[in-house]
Amino acid sequence: MANPSILILPGDGIGPEVMAEVRKIISWFDAKRGLSFDVSEDLVGGAAYDVHGTPLADSTMEKAQSVDAVLLGAVGGPKYDSLPFEVKPERGLLRLRKEMDLYANLRPAVCFDALADFSSLKRDVVAGLDIMIVRELTSGVYFGEPRGIFTEGNERVGINTQRYTESEIARVARSAFELARRRRNKVCSMEKANVMESGILWREVVQKVHDEEYPDVELSHMYADNGAMQLVRNPKQFDVIVTDNLFGDILSDAAAMLTGSLGMLPSASLGAPMANGRPKALYEPVHGSAPDIAGQNKANPIACILSFGMALRYSFDQGAEADRLERAVEAVLAKGLRTADLMGPEGGSPVSTSEMGDAIVQA
Ligand code: ATP
Ligand code: MG
Repeated sequence: MANPSILILPGDGIGPEVMAEVRKIISWFDAKRGLSFDVSEDLVGGAAYDVHGTPLADSTMEKAQSVDAVLLGAVGGPKYDSLPFEVKPERGLLRLRKEMDLYANLRPAVCFDALADFSSLKRDVVAGLDIMIVRELTSGVYFGEPRGIFTEGNERVGINTQRYTESEIARVARSAFELARRRRNKVCSMEKANVMESGILWREVVQKVHDEEYPDVELSHMYADNGAMQLVRNPKQFDVIVTDNLFGDILSDAAAMLTGSLGMLPSASLGAPMANGRPKALYEPVHGSAPDIAGQNKANPIACILSFGMALRYSFDQGAEADRLERAVEAVLAKGLRTADLMGPEGGSPVSTSEMGDAIVQA
């Protein structure tokens, strides 16, 4: 059988620097675990614009559609700020998400014990935390029509429309239930069915998908405002949280602060299952291109490395190998190795991007 395929798109700024460390991890799995991937690499963002005059060439888009997983670094930077809207680096990433129809955005919030004091919350609230927020990404109030600023009588009115179809809700619910089965088998669905029609439909459809297809998964429902409170009060009560585009945007940023630095946060965006049963998938760190530290070998590569870990788990069915990778990260942090972004106010001497990558390979 052919090896599973990965398309690497390092992009701009620190993207190529952190991706170089992922390359080391991929080589290690090949050499030491007999886990081989067909890896190809291409341009995205400003790097693609410099060569092709577009942030995502059609040939790259085609490759992205044909591989088992896309791994992206970051796009953008001051050099490209004055470009016209259609060719801005970010447009490359948006085109990927749109044409691959990646409707489920996965943001884990995991608290590594060594960094528990880095959280905005007390250690006992976050130590051992491991939750996953699934945010609907392609519909809802950010896209619904009508939208715009209109004139009504003698004043203007700004309008957005929250709109969800049953099939849009059902497919993201399935993504959440599938994930839960690989985790602790628990889903909490969040909406505001008390005040929103879309919330009533959301709750009903999630419950129906559960009852008909995933009765083995424990399902609960929560109003999103209460959810925000519970996330900060006692986040460990959750396993998988599934919610709409707007609430997911807010709740996943709040959850991010439970765990510390932007340099630690991976993400995945999943679409419909392909012919081989794997979902269309794009993995990327939550952080951007960090132009302020680009080219200095200072960036934390862990977010990107953990994004590859998510690919192992969710695209390649290699949960045990993903665990192995996460344990290596944990071990390196436990030894006290820190990139600059993980240094507390007391300071110390940080390791470089490549030293952090090497240490994780070693571990
Ligand atoms: P975008 O608009 O693409 O999200 P941004 O400007 O909002 O980008 P980042 O590029 O993620 O945000 O940078 C925000 C801050 O976090 C910067 O000071 C950056 O140096 C820091 N940062 C981001 N990622 C990392 C990382 N992997 N390691 C260390 N510092 C990082
Ligand atoms: Mg930003």
